[in-house]
Amino acid sequence: MVGSKEKSKEKRDKRLQEISLLRTIPYSDHQRWWTSETVAVVTGANRGIGFEMVRQLAGHGLTVILTSRDENVGVEAAKILQEGGFNVDFHRLDILDSSSIQEFCEWIKEKYGFIDVLINNAGVNYNVGSDNSVEFSHMVISTNYYGTKNIINAMIPLMRHACQGARIVNVTSRLGRLKGRHSKLENEDVRAKLMDVDSLTEEIVDKTVSEFLKQVEEGTWESGGWPHSFTDYSVSKMAVNAYTRVLAKELSERPEGEKIYANCFCPGWVKTAMTGYAGNVSAEDGADTGVWLALLPDQAITGKFFAERREISF
Ligand code: NDP
Repeated sequence: MVGSKEKSKEKRDKRLQEISLLRTIPYSDHQRWWTSETVAVVTGANRGIGFEMVRQLAGHGLTVILTSRDENVGVEAAKILQEGGFNVDFHRLDILDSSSIQEFCEWIKEKYGFIDVLINNAGVNYNVGSDNSVEFSHMVISTNYYGTKNIINAMIPLMRHACQGARIVNVTSRLGRLKGRHSKLENEDVRAKLMDVDSLTEEIVDKTVSEFLKQVEEGTWESGGWPHSFTDYSVSKMAVNAYTRVLAKELSERPEGEKIYANCFCPGWVKTAMTGYAGNVSAEDGADTGVWLALLPDQAITGKFFAERREISF
C-alpha cells in the first residue's frame, strides 16, 4: 500500500516538474489568440486558486476581472495585483445572489461590452479532513452547482463572438469522478445516467442533486450509494462535471464564429483556506491547468475534464 502511495507521489511530482518546465516556455505569437483587450472573469477570486488564476491570466497579458462576494476583501486583493502592474479590475459578485449577478452583468456590458473567458472558481466545502457532515448540503449544492449554472447562464449572452471561440472553465474535483480510483460513488443508477453523455440532460443532473438533497432531508442518504466522504461536496462537483458536458454539447450547436468551449478541471489537493492549508500543491500549481485551458490555442476542445494539463476521464 505504502509502495503504491509512494509511486503515485513520484508520478505526481514528476508531472508537476514537467509542468513547471512547460510554464517557462512562452506562448508563441501564433498561439496567442488574446490581446490586452481580451477580458477574463474569475469568480471567488479574492484568495486561493481563484486569486492565482487572476494573477497568471493577467501575467499573460489579458484584462482580468477579479470578483469576490465581499467588496472590501476583493478590492484589497485586486489592489495587490494592480500595484504589481497587472491589468486587473474588480467587481463584486456573489454567485448565490441573482441581483448581484444582474448588477455584475450590467457593469460588464457598460464597461467592457463582452467577455472572452469565464472561470467558475467560487465554491464552498464544509468538510475538513476526515470529518463528514451533510449539515450544509443545501449551501454546498446551491453554491457549487446552481450558483455556477446561474453565472454561466447570465454570462453566455455577454461572451464575445470570435473565431477562436469564447471559453468557460469550471473548477471541479476528482472527488466528483464517476469511475476510477478516486470515485467513491456506489450508486450504479446515478453513475450510468451521468456517464451516458448522449442522453445526459441538465434535467437529469438537476434531478440527481434533488434526489440527494431529499435523501439528506429524510436522513436516508447513507444508504443512497453516494460517496461517504466529502459527500455533499463530491455530489456538487459530480454535478458540475456532468453539467459541463451538457453545456458543451448545447454550445457546440452554435454557428462558427460564435462558439463557446466549456471544460472543467481538478486543481489537485491544494493548500488553500478550503483545505485548512493542507494539501500537496500550491495555489500557483493548482491554478495552472485552469489557466492553460482558458488559453488553449485555436483548437475546439470542449466537454472534457482535465488535471495537470492532461485529459482525464469523468
Ligand atoms: P477558497 O476557500 O480559498 O476559495 C473559495 C472562493 O470561493 C473564495 O473566494 C470564496 O469567497 C468564494 N465563494 C464562496 N461562495 C461564493 C459565492 N456565493 N459567491 C462568490 N464567491 C464565493 O478555496 P480554493 O481556492 O481551494 O477553491 C477554489 C475552487 O477550487 C473551489 O471551487 C473548490 O471547490 C475547488 N477545488 C479546490 C481544491 C483544493 O484542494 N483546495 C480541490 C479541488 C477543487 P469568500 O472568501 O468570501 O469565502
